[in-house]
Amino acid sequence: MTPGRGEHPIHAARKQALFREVNEQVWALQQKWGTPAEVDFICECADVTCSVAIQIASVDYERVRSEPLHFVVAPEHFFEGAEVLVERGPRHWIVEVNEAGRAA
Ligand SMILES: [Zn+2]
Repeated sequence: MTPGRGEHPIHAARKQALFREVNEQVWALQQKWGTPAEVDFICECADVTCSVAIQIASVDYERVRSEPLHFVVAPEHFFEGAEVLVERGPRHWIVEVNEAGRAA
C-alpha cells in the first residue's frame, strides 16, 4: 500500500457510499430540468478528505451508476490494490472497488 493514499478500509468504503448518494441526489435533481450533456459531480475516490468536483457526461455517469461497484473519480485518484481501473478519461477515471475493499 502506498503511504498516505493507502488508507482504504472502513472510512473509504463509507465515503464512497456517501458520495455516491450525494451524486445520486445531484443526478436526480438534474433530471428534473432535463438531462444535461454534462454534470458536475464529486469525486467518489477512497480518499476521505477528497471532495474534488469532476465533470462527467450524463451518458457516462449513467453507465457508471448501473454498476454498483463502479465509481467515478478524478484522474489519478485511484487506489491500486483496493480498486481496479476500468476506464481512464481526460477528466475522470472510472474505478471498480474490489469486493475485499467493499467489505472492509
Ligand atoms: Zn478524489
